[in-house]
Amino acid sequence: MRRTLVLVSVVAVGLGLLLARPDAARQASPDRTGWLWYKGNTHAHTTESDGDSSPEVVTRWYRDRGYQFLVLSDHNVLTNIETLSRTFAVPEQFLLVPGEEVTDAFEKAPLHINGLNVSRLVEPRHGTSVPDILQRNVDAIREARGVPHVNHPNFVWAIAPEHLQQLERYRLLEIYNGHPQVNNEGGGGRPGLEDVWDRLLRAGRRVYGIAVDDAHHFTRPWDPTASQPGRGWVVVRAPRLEASALMASLEAGDFYASTGVELESVESTREAITIRVRPKGETRYRLTLVDANGAHPPVEGLTARFPLEARMRYARVVVRDSNGHQAWIQPVFLD
Ligand SMILES: [Zn+2]
Ligand SMILES: [Zn+2]
Repeated sequence: MRRTLVLVSVVAVGLGLLLARPDAARQASPDRTGWLWYKGNTHAHTTESDGDSSPEVVTRWYRDRGYQFLVLSDHNVLTNIETLSRTFAVPEQFLLVPGEEVTDAFEKAPLHINGLNVSRLVEPRHGTSVPDILQRNVDAIREARGVPHVNHPNFVWAIAPEHLQQLERYRLLEIYNGHPQVNNEGGGGRPGLEDVWDRLLRAGRRVYGIAVDDAHHFTRPWDPTASQPGRGWVVVRAPRLEASALMASLEAGDFYASTGVELESVESTREAITIRVRPKGETRYRLTLVDANGAHPPVEGLTARFPLEARMRYARVVVRDSNGHQAWIQPVFLD
């Protein structure tokens, strides 16, 4: 299977209004299959649950900063996007995808799973243990024809790697969540989320890593305890800006996750992963191949071609920049 991923310059990362309408760039440089790349955030809250701003304000924030799609994921509320879409949605420029954060708990452990593109409200199913509750809610989201993503496993240290090992019918796992209290990096004997992801991949689970904002606060940008927007997102390759197409690409791993690193191109085949980073000023980049046996010595620079071998079992690439931002390229499975 050959997956050739060439990014066009529609991916505007934090560059504001100038790139919010990148039609010329889109038409000038589609990749060879005609698919395009769309930047989106799949996790944001509004006043429909515990966010501090209305759905209109939140949607405008993302639309004006060059995102092409957004999922409003309020807690156990399917925020109505019909009216919003009449105001904000523009074909091939900006799309609202229905969504919800199915919010459950086991004792004091918060168990949250986003349902993307659900066809109706999904009520939390509850259950008798962490794995039981997770599975019941994943199944409920699937029954509503939605795509589940498992949220912030280390929030209140609720979801351990062994819980995720048991979970079925999910493809997407938050490996970065922009909320300031979700313990992305692990500690105190608990692994960070990138390590959790590799444990799952080594165990043969086909799981893709996503980065999200989990934005709650749009009115206090000075506050380090606030959950600000603009911290984590995905860039999805799809044939068109349409919810079912985006969902299919997410579940196929046709995307990368980012906290600030932009890519110009990615080519993933069973033979090699080839990456070109889009440079930004004097920022420098380190590209690292990770396989089932661990991390390889990094390549310093803007481009790299990593040859793959079957004994790697899976291979993925992470790009880290000199200012602490990342891009995670999704794994290629070799067995
Ligand atoms: Zn949550
Ligand atoms: Zn949330």
